[in-house]
Amino acid sequence: MARYIGPKCKLCRREGLKLFLKGERCYTGKCAIDKRPYAPGQHGQKRKKLSEYGIQLREKQKAKRYYGVLEAQFRNYFEKADQEKGITGENLLRYLELRLDNVIYRLGFASSRTEARQFVRHNHVIVNGQKVNIPSYGVSAGDVIEIKENSKSMTKFKDAAETSNGAIIPEWMEKDAKMLKGKITQVPSRTQINVPIEETLIIELYSK
Ligand code: SF4
Repeated sequence: MARYIGPKCKLCRREGLKLFLKGERCYTGKCAIDKRPYAPGQHGQKRKKLSEYGIQLREKQKAKRYYGVLEAQFRNYFEKADQEKGITGENLLRYLELRLDNVIYRLGFASSRTEARQFVRHNHVIVNGQKVNIPSYGVSAGDVIEIKENSKSMTKFKDAAETSNGAIIPEWMEKDAKMLKGKITQVPSRTQINVPIEETLIIELYSK
């Protein structure tokens, strides 16, 4: 699956908020949006009034960038969400949250979704006892996710076991930091998905 490989900090500056795409750097004084809190490019410092379409488009771009998903796959999630029962926007966010790369990140086993994606691709992740190397793999309630036994001794995972111990995780999952293991206890509701995204704007855009 294709992925964005351009400069990540530019994406945050374009959206006007921290998308936490670069792991630890995002929490330091080196964060580009703290240093230059305006859009990139020659006219980035000019204030532009966005049209209704522009606002909806920016919200979609923000969501895609936040989760590291490209247009075709994002649209696919929307179509599946739209066909399901319930509120389309909430279904869409649920699809994104339940991606395996996002779950690894939420559990604190990776410092960013990009790193989490790499861990999955490099065969470090096990779901219900089976190796899964597809970052977009959708987990379900009851699934047990863990770092592969042979990989646990790697420095990055040893560090993750130490640093993520006691860190707050979403209430729809539980974690055994020492064992680098987590479980999806329930499918998250909208109130349990803490993201700076107004999903209704995205649905309005796609429904035009
Ligand atoms: Fe965004 Fe992180 Fe870069 Fe800051 S350091 S601009 S939060 S990717």
